[in-house]
Amino acid sequence: MKITRISVYHVDLPLEHPYWLSGGRLKFEVLDATFVKIETDAGLTGWGEGTPWGHTYVPAHGPGIRAGIETMAPFILGLDPRKVLEVERAMDLALPGHLYTKSPIDMACWDIAGQAAGLPIADLMGGGARTPAPIASSVGAKTVQETREVMDRYRQRGYHVHSVKVGGDAERDIERIRDVEAHRPRGERILYDVNRAWTRQRALRVMKATEDLGVMFEQPGETLDDIAAIRSKHAAPVSVDESLVTLQDAARIAREGLAEVFGIKLNRVGGLTKAARIRDIALAHGIDMFVMATGGSVLADTEALHLAATIPDHNLLGIWACQDMLTLDIAGGRGPRNKEGHLYLPESPGLGVHPDEGALGAPVAIYEAGQ
Ligand code: MG
Repeated sequence: MKITRISVYHVDLPLEHPYWLSGGRLKFEVLDATFVKIETDAGLTGWGEGTPWGHTYVPAHGPGIRAGIETMAPFILGLDPRKVLEVERAMDLALPGHLYTKSPIDMACWDIAGQAAGLPIADLMGGGARTPAPIASSVGAKTVQETREVMDRYRQRGYHVHSVKVGGDAERDIERIRDVEAHRPRGERILYDVNRAWTRQRALRVMKATEDLGVMFEQPGETLDDIAAIRSKHAAPVSVDESLVTLQDAARIAREGLAEVFGIKLNRVGGLTKAARIRDIALAHGIDMFVMATGGSVLADTEALHLAATIPDHNLLGIWACQDMLTLDIAGGRGPRNKEGHLYLPESPGLGVHPDEGALGAPVAIYEAGQ
């Protein structure tokens, strides 16, 4: 089987509510999504998606994905998409780094490989659990009262895992965390996500002031060096996501004991092939995981769901449904959708959901073998 054509689509996915990242970063109202259709000489078609969480969050942006695919396409055409390691190697040779540009290609290849094998991707990866995966909310509120209201709205939709965004003023963060913990129903899991916004001293101020609560913080500093520098000065469990990009990052975090949890973001780390290795490092070191798309539609959420299904239930803390934050559905309601705060693994071969091509508009680029 050979890849004969790669079609690239650009779609702006509007957010239901504008999103402000902490630290003075710009607000954004749409996500710049790239969808990729890979066609083969065997008649199988695979789909991939790459949707960064805005372009001010981490070094990734939609036009970069499309430029990366333009550079890599001549080296991917003609390869067998079922041989994901060969495709990965070709991409890494054609364009070192730039991992986020590679994930849509990797995803489309896994989709084809699953269809060819007659298996959902998770089963092709070695076996997917059918346990419904709990979706984490994304609580971007500012005040104590707003935080209560947003969390209650999520609870009414069945959510029992929450990612509460902190990282503003230290005293207000302490107040919000104490209020959330005072009202936490039994069995709820809550992560306080700093999104790198604290300096070392602000991180220590909040982490020490909430030590009696035993709460977990995600990405409490800008870099792994920042997280390492305060590591011995607080007792809180730590999750790392923005600083978890490469396999080398995963190895360092595990070896130096910098975090108890990995937040694996599929687009950021370069797709399923690379993410599966990070999963294995986590499992080998007693590190639990959140698995998420970096952003995007039901396609990106489904990719993350497949990887999540390959993780033992007791090591998986949650997934995400970015689709719930969008006002445009490019798959007409198909694919895994929020049911009482959970997503269910699709049983059809491959990814298990494809977009409506009519919803994507005309391709912005087409690459063909022999051009
Ligand atoms: Mg995070």
